[in-house]
Amino acid sequence: MSVILNVSQVEKYFGGSGSVNRALDNISFTVEKGEFLGIMGPSGSGKSTLLNCVAGIVSVSTGHIFIGSRDITLLKQPGMSAFRRKHLGLLFQDLNLLETLNAYENIALSLSMQMCAPNEIHRRILAIAQMMGIEDLLSRYPWQLSGGQKQCVTRARALVSRLRSSSRTNRPAPLDSASSGMLMRTLETINQHTHNTIMMV
Ligand code: ADP
Repeated sequence: MSVILNVSQVEKYFGGSGSVNRALDNISFTVEKGEFLGIMGPSGSGKSTLLNCVAGIVSVSTGHIFIGSRDITLLKQPGMSAFRRKHLGLLFQDLNLLETLNAYENIALSLSMQMCAPNEIHRRILAIAQMMGIEDLLSRYPWQLSGGQKQCVTRARALVSRLRSSSRTNRPAPLDSASSGMLMRTLETINQHTHNTIMMV
């Protein structure tokens, strides 16, 4: 297995001039390709800060974060945004679906921002919808979806740009948002069809 994420001696300080808050204190770990990592800790222990640093949303104070061979702590905007779009899948707990777009259009959004060709967008959306068991929901607007169905659409949007152009997919069971076991199995299946990191925030 190869290392896909290498977090090396990362520290993050917030504040300054007398009231420094050390959110991350010398954090180092690696994640292998295909591996799942859970980060646990009490509220305020730095979980969100760590994930935001790995996603390049928050800059580190010291240390380095390699995704593949790329040190993302050296990337500036707009390079970091482009790298994130191409190589990371961020699954937010809040849903952020656009109310004026249906599920298909919400999923298409990230691909069209990457200048993906329309027929490729269509092919990938059908593939991810089939993988997640949401083909019947694609024409619905967010207000026509249940909470669990919205989560499925949000996950499809986060993961659709990770599909390889030529991937052929097997159909797993539809995702039940109440079941973390089912989510992990779905992520495992998607992981087999992708070539990048998947992260949950
Ligand atoms: P967790 O996700 O584990 O609850 P956080 O990463 O949100 O923890 O927070 C870690 C520490 O960093 C906390 O003390 C929090 O108050 C502080 N912190 C997080 N974000 C900021 C910020 N933008 N400005 C100042 N302090 C922050």
